[in-house]
Amino acid sequence: MKKQGNKILRIRGYALALIFIGMIIMYAGVFFRTIPWLFGIFLFVGLLPILLSFAIYFWVGMISTRALTVQCPNCERHTKILGHVDFCQHCKEPLTVDKELEGEDFSLDYNVPHRREKAIEEKKQDGNMQKDEQA
Ligand SMILES: [Zn+2]
Repeated sequence: MKKQGNKILRIRGYALALIFIGMIIMYAGVFFRTIPWLFGIFLFVGLLPILLSFAIYFWVGMISTRALTVQCPNCERHTKILGHVDFCQHCKEPLTVDKELEGEDFSLDYNVPHRREKAIEEKKQDGNMQKDEQA
């Protein structure tokens, strides 16, 4: 399984990668500087990922102001949660904002509303079954 990280940090990572991709494309254009139209195309194509990256940075800034800040129970530092489940920015502890899912095996499925509802439903049924057994 791929190592997961905090969503905001991951999105910033993609944005940074886009800047490098844009720079590489522009740099490749230097080899064609004797052909002005081709050089122009390289510069233009290289500019696109960089502009996209700025847009992503701007968007991350917007969502991170709205993201929920919580204190991580593992490392006790503050981290931002995006969506219903996310990872701590510092120690990568999986965190959830849903009380119903606390203590459950962590799954990114919980970011998908119908799967999360199913998981909560299943957990409630498990709880009811245990009560029946006790009775
Ligand atoms: Zn932590």
